[in-house]
Amino acid sequence: MPAIKKCPKCNRSMVALTLTIDDADRVLRSCSYCDVRMWEDHDGERTSLAGVLEELTVTKD
Ligand SMILES: [Zn+2]
Repeated sequence: MPAIKKCPKCNRSMVALTLTIDDADRVLRSCSYCDVRMWEDHDGERTSLAGVLEELTVTKD
């Protein structure tokens, strides 16, 4: 399980979802309070997967 991290905006605990994309584990962290989302790779590095986000994001503004 990914470690719990705090939302950079509101400092609440973020939800972490682990997804396997192209045989690589990615972690999508989201804050249900202020709707922040960020991706990390398996090393915990923040990564930009804009295309993946567009495909997987269910709730869009
Ligand atoms: Zn937040």
